[in-house]
Amino acid sequence: MNIQVLGGAKEIGGNKILVNHEDTRILLDFGMSFSKSSYYFSEFLQPRKSSSLRDFFEFDLLPDISGIYREDYLKHMGRKKENRSIDALFLSHAHMDHSAYIHFLRKDIPIYCTEPTKIILQSIEETGKGTFSDLYTYCEAFSFYKNKKGEMSRVNRRKEKYVTKREYNIMEPKKKVKIGSLEVEMVPVDHSLPGACGFIIYTDEGNLVYSGDLRFHGLHGEKSYKFIERAKEAEPELFLCEGTRIDDNRKDSEEKVKNEMGELISQSEGIVFVEHPKKDTDRVKTIYDAAKSNEREFVIDLKLAYLIEKLGKMSSLDIKDTMILIPKKKWGLIGREDVPGDQVLKDYETWERDFIVRSNTVRCEELKKNPKDYVVSTSLWEMNQLVDIQPKNAIWIKSNCEPFSEDMELDEKRKKHWLEHFGIKEYSAHASGHASGPEIKQMIKEIDSKEVIPIHTEHPEMF
Ligand SMILES: [Zn+2]
Ligand SMILES: [Zn+2]
Repeated sequence: MNIQVLGGAKEIGGNKILVNHEDTRILLDFGMSFSKSSYYFSEFLQPRKSSSLRDFFEFDLLPDISGIYREDYLKHMGRKKENRSIDALFLSHAHMDHSAYIHFLRKDIPIYCTEPTKIILQSIEETGKGTFSDLYTYCEAFSFYKNKKGEMSRVNRRKEKYVTKREYNIMEPKKKVKIGSLEVEMVPVDHSLPGACGFIIYTDEGNLVYSGDLRFHGLHGEKSYKFIERAKEAEPELFLCEGTRIDDNRKDSEEKVKNEMGELISQSEGIVFVEHPKKDTDRVKTIYDAAKSNEREFVIDLKLAYLIEKLGKMSSLDIKDTMILIPKKKWGLIGREDVPGDQVLKDYETWERDFIVRSNTVRCEELKKNPKDYVVSTSLWEMNQLVDIQPKNAIWIKSNCEPFSEDMELDEKRKKHWLEHFGIKEYSAHASGHASGPEIKQMIKEIDSKEVIPIHTEHPEMF
């Protein structure tokens, strides 16, 4: 067996691991490295679409290996047709640092993951305005078709004929998947979004365990303890172990977040905003509980509503228990009685329109009128609604990690200016998505593999 860490060593995220055994080759995750990417690029200096893969290869954002990349991109950069060299991609979870670069993969590579992972990636693509595309479906790039007038037109996503689904295969616990000479078992873990898992790979030369990202202090911490048990039973040769917080001894607790948040809300004289990881439906539940214990409604945005509804029973919270905030968009016609309904709907994306007419919706005018009735899930990208809400005595609870890049620090600084402008006090209540140093050490000790490969960490030397 041969393991190549193509991304995610000595950095947090960007995991791309190639496992090769006899004639079988599989990938574990295929994510984007935010640190590498922001070292060369920014919001206004992006890798060029026209270069297809070249800009990514130049700065080692993608490994230049044959037989894995999409054929339309290869053709566009003048490379010869390549034969598929990978049998499957196994995805540990739907965070972009593990999954964003699926975009670049051939469409005939089967993807294996849990059902929530598939649904989250689908939602990201459907609600994301193209920021992260071609994760769930695949649209032929750089190609033309003949339009009704007989002229050449460029293929785009609106032409349904040219959009195909990628091959997703849903994995179940304890059911091994056989790929060539390997058997792969999915083991659920607790992390800061639904559907996260680790993998055990069985071969006749010994077994390999991959942790993915995990924590022990979340609402479903028991899953991660069961992962240790299962990994131990496999008596692995190798353990690819995440170490985001290997240098951090603090033990986190989701329960503590709920209590701190409840306390802050109870003392607030105005509206409460909570900034949090949007895909973490367990944190969403924590905020909901804290709001309800203070007899306040919990308000969420359209994207979060879409995700919660798609996840259905796999989400910790029911969409019916929330209020959905309908903000002004485009022309801002919502609430105007002199304008026909179809014109109002045109202010919104197709996927948003279904929510507008529901009974559990709320608008900024109402939040302004009765601020003490609400706790609002928000983010830096929705701050402009503060102008419509005109909050007084409001508080902002940051339930998110600290900025870890220069771009994020700038965003954070800008946020402070907005909060100062509206006289909003900021507090924090957060628990990480990752295990602490002592928890990682304990896990390594218990699994007791012959060798450990640190991954997803800036401090491999601490292993
Ligand atoms: Zn990660
Ligand atoms: Zn993650």
